[in-house]
This record gives sequence, structure tokens and C-alpha cells, in this order.
Amino acid sequence: MAPRTHIAVLGGGISGLSTAWYLARTAPSSVKITLIEGTKRTGGWLHSDRVADPHHPNGKGSILLERGPRSLRPQGVSGLNTLEMVRELGLDSKIEPVSKTSPAAKNRYIYSHKTLHKLPSSIMGALTHPLLAAKIPRAGLDLVKRGSGQDDESIQDFVTRRFGKGFSDDLISAMVHGIYAGDVSKLSVRSTFGILYHMEKDYGSIVLGMLMGGGAVETPWDLTLKEKIVKEMPNLQEFVDKTSIYSFTDGLEELSRSLEKNLVKGGRVDIQKDSVVEKLDANLDSRDVRISIKGQEAVHANTVISALPPLKLQKLLSKQYSELTYNPSVTVAVVNLVYSAEQARLASPGFGYLIPRSENSAVNHRGLLGVVFDSCAIPEQDKGESQGKTLKLTAMIGGHMFNEALSQLASGSGSGASTLELSGSHKEDVNEFFAKTAMDAVKKHLKIDATPELVKVHIHQECIPQYLVGHLQRMQTLDQSLRKDFDGLLSVTGAGYLGVSVNDCIKNAREVAEAVVSKLEEEDDGEAQLVGRQEAITGLERSWFL
Ligand SMILES: Cc1cc2nc3c(=O)[nH]c(=O)nc-3n(C[C@H](O)[C@H](O)[C@H](O)COP(=O)(O)OP(=O)(O)OC[C@H]3O[C@@H](n4cnc5c(N)ncnc54)[C@H](O)[C@@H]3O)c2cc1C
Repeated sequence: MAPRTHIAVLGGGISGLSTAWYLARTAPSSVKITLIEGTKRTGGWLHSDRVADPHHPNGKGSILLERGPRSLRPQGVSGLNTLEMVRELGLDSKIEPVSKTSPAAKNRYIYSHKTLHKLPSSIMGALTHPLLAAKIPRAGLDLVKRGSGQDDESIQDFVTRRFGKGFSDDLISAMVHGIYAGDVSKLSVRSTFGILYHMEKDYGSIVLGMLMGGGAVETPWDLTLKEKIVKEMPNLQEFVDKTSIYSFTDGLEELSRSLEKNLVKGGRVDIQKDSVVEKLDANLDSRDVRISIKGQEAVHANTVISALPPLKLQKLLSKQYSELTYNPSVTVAVVNLVYSAEQARLASPGFGYLIPRSENSAVNHRGLLGVVFDSCAIPEQDKGESQGKTLKLTAMIGGHMFNEALSQLASGSGSGASTLELSGSHKEDVNEFFAKTAMDAVKKHLKIDATPELVKVHIHQECIPQYLVGHLQRMQTLDQSLRKDFDGLLSVTGAGYLGVSVNDCIKNAREVAEAVVSKLEEEDDGEAQLVGRQEAITGLERSWFL
């Protein structure tokens, strides 16, 4: 009898967990599936803490704090796909939606010229907006300007070419701070705002593209998936239409916890935690990959789907792939601040504010990217006596300005070093520095003088990959190299490749899992076997469509 086919998934973040979940749902029962995670917990950057409320030491209240991602958008095919997963995991009753009519949905701010400006929500609002009005005549050029003819360029170059300089410095750089904590002058427009790139290509103008409702970047696979979900779950659309964003009662980590629980209960997936993968050796002749694990016996699989960050994957391979190491990932300090609502109040309720590059520099604001008004968006996550009685804010600091921000502390500390280490004896100094940066910002920008009752600082090293100019072309090259060198023995998925949002991670995991399963062939004895040497799957196929 032929040996049982074994698929191993590396990395237990949302990408790896989702890959394992989709494999378990689609692969024949004879296929063995293993998920290998290096730490003691799954979820990766999804990390929600329920903590005691310092204002209610009687234990009658608790507060939910997010260390990483905090909300999901229901829109688009990736939004629908996550909602389908949420429903199938039975998490519907835990959803905490932010209605499109709530202040958190309608009021998003930019801190510019020493004031909070509400972002426009209509064309008319944009035309009369103090940050934009003066730039509108120049922006009219968009209607007549030709495309650059280039395959890719930085977001800044693209936006400046079409609308003039002020747009990328103010509005767009602030948005890029909110999503990528990145630098508009370095990130690829095609990989981060593909919709703009395609509007220019298809309509010759962004304004025209918007008016014509164009630019959606959906592959044939996306369209089929959307059709299938809409047909099977027609009532999801109602939720999408009225919801701006959502999370869960116990935070976004509820999604990864529920996935793990479901995988364990289903019995299809063997989850190995605390197992750091150190090396991969692929043998194309025997169609076997030896997965070396630190301090443990090696695991053998017939196909490996890596859901590790690209740099981590490169460390496991003997051959160098420059496409895996080209993009850096930025480090972000996340500071949760909890105030008593009796002492601290938001004058302008909303989702939060972002700081554009024109306003910001590490010198100006010590690298502050923005502040989220958590308790305004989803107060239901705080329980008991804490609900409605706390003001909960989260400051995001650093990103592409992390080292610059930290060097201020280093120069002030007399250490002489350009930056301080993030561990050891300096850790406390560093945490204190970021806590103070966050509190000073809240004082200055939101005019809140109260002292927070709780402050938590988390420094996430290399947490958001930066898709630099030329990213998609590099992914296409990697697609060809992996196909040639591994012939289907190794596929990749995860935030480092084709989308950083949780929704993108889940949808891309589904695509690779289903594609790998589609290559399984029923043998005469009923066992499923991986078919080699024909149309090997790499997980990067969609890079040719974007
Ligand atoms: C501060 C912050 C805020 C964010 N906010 C949002 C948001 O609001 N909404 C949104 O949609 N997205 C948000 N994102 C983005 C999103 O959270 C991430 O892109 C996504 O969680 C990445 O998931 P992943 O599984 O691809 O990678 P990871 O979460 O990095 O998972 C990789 C896993 O691999 C494991 N691993 C690494 N090396 C090895 C090894 N050698 N052997 C075994 N295991 C290994 C790691 O321990 C980890 O568990 C945010 C991200 C951050 C950091």
C-alpha cells in the first residue's frame, strides 16, 4: 500500500491556522495534516488580553485590550470569506459590530496643523475640506494626465504624479501609517493600493475610474468564491451593508482560539506547538520533505505549506532566494491606555486619528503613527461595571520611524548608542519611553490631562512586512523559482506575500489549501496521493493577476 500522504503547515498564526482548517475541510480523510508552531500558543499577532479593571478592584468589571489587530472589515470578497469562516466556527453570537451609522464609523480623524480634522465622507465634503480644498484644482489634472507606463512605483510618486504633492503627504501618508506603519515613498502602489494602479491603467484616471466603479482587483478564483458564498449564505450581505468593521466579545484572538479548538475537536489536524522548525530538506525523487525541529525528531511530509514570515522561511532553506529577504518588516510599539471615564472624555468621539508624514517625524512626535479610540468603537468588549465607565485608547508608535524615535531616547540617555537594545536592562527605559510618548500625545492632541489607571506597552519586532516597489514582480519570480526547485513540495502563504490584513491572510490560506488538495489524486486503493511534476502549487499564482 502506498504511504499515506502527509501535508505539513508551518506556523500557527492566522495564516497557518486557516490553511490547516481549509485543508481539514477539503482533503480526503486518508490525508494526514500537521500544523507546526514554534511557540507555546497559536494566533501569531492576534493577541487579546482580558484584564481586571483597576477602577473596580471588586472584580465586577473587566477590560479587553488588544496587543495586535483589533478589527476586521466585512467588505469585499476577503471580508465575505472571513464572515463565512466565522459563521462555520459558530462565532456569530460573539460578533461585536460597529454600525455604519455609529460615530466610530463616521468619524475618522487626521491630526494635522496642530488640529484634529474629520476625514470627509463624501465628494462634496472633500471639495470643501480645509486640508484638501486648496489642492483640488491641481488634482483636476488627474482627468487629463496619462499613465507613467511603469509596472510599479512608490505610493508617493504615483499620488504626486496624479494629484500633486500635498495629497500623498497628508491624506495618503496617514492612511499608510494606519495600515502598514510604513513610508509612502518606499511602498509599492501596485501591491498596497492596487485599486489605484488598475484605475489608472483601465480608465486613464482615478476620478473617472471611481465614477465608473472600476478598479476592483479580483482574480477569477475570487469571483467564483464570492459567487459561491453569496449563493450559500445570502443573508451575509445584510450584515455587510450595515457594518463598518467588527470584532468579537473577547477580542480578535477569539477567531484564532476558535480555529484551534475546532481543529483539535475535528481530530483531523495534529497540532505541534513549541516546535521551532530549523531546516527543510526536499527530495524531489522520493517526493519527501524532511522538517528538522529543534530538540525533536524530524517530521517527514509530502508537501509543506509555509505560513512563516518570508525571512524565517529563508533561514530554513539551503538555497538563497533574494525575493524572500528583499522586504524589511517594521517594528511597532503598541501602547494601551485605560482612563476612568469620569476623569477623561473624548471631545470628538470616533474611531481614532492618524498622523500624516507632513505633520509627523520622529522629532515632532517621537514616531507616533496614530491613536485608536477603542472604547468608542466597541464598548461592549468591556464587561460588568467597566462597560461605559472607561476610556480606552491605543497608541501605535514607530513603524518606519521606529529606530529614529528610539534614537532620541538613546541620545537622551547618554549611552552614546544610536539606538537602545530592546531587551535586557534597557527594556524598562524603552517601555517607559513609549508609554510617555503615548501619554504626551493624548494630552496634546486630545486635551486629556488625566493620568491613565493602566498602561501596557508591547513592542512587536518586525511585525508588519513592507511591500517595497517591485514587490509583485518579485513574487512572480519567486513563484517560478519555487515551482522549478520544489515542484509542489513547498508552497507559501501569509502576510509577507500577497496581503497583510487578517482577511487577506485567511483568503490566501484558503486558496493555497484548496489548490494543494485539488492536486491530490485518488489511487485505486482509495488513498489520496499528491501528484507531482504537473502544475505544481506555490501559493503565489495570484501574483500574476494583481
Ligand atoms: C500591531 C498590529 C496591528 C494590526 N492591526 C490589524 C487590524 O486591525 N486588522 C487587520 O486585518 N490586520 C491587522 N494587522 C495585520 C495582521 O494582524 C497580520 O498581518 C496577520 O496577523 C499576520 O498573520 P500570519 O499568520 O501571516 O503571520 P504571524 O502572525 O506572524 O504568524 C507566523 C507564525 O509563525 C510562527 N513561527 C515563526 N518562525 C517559526 C519557526 N521557525 N518554526 C515554527 N513556527 C514559527 C510564529 O510563532 C507565528 O505564530 C495588524 C498587525 C499588527 C502587528
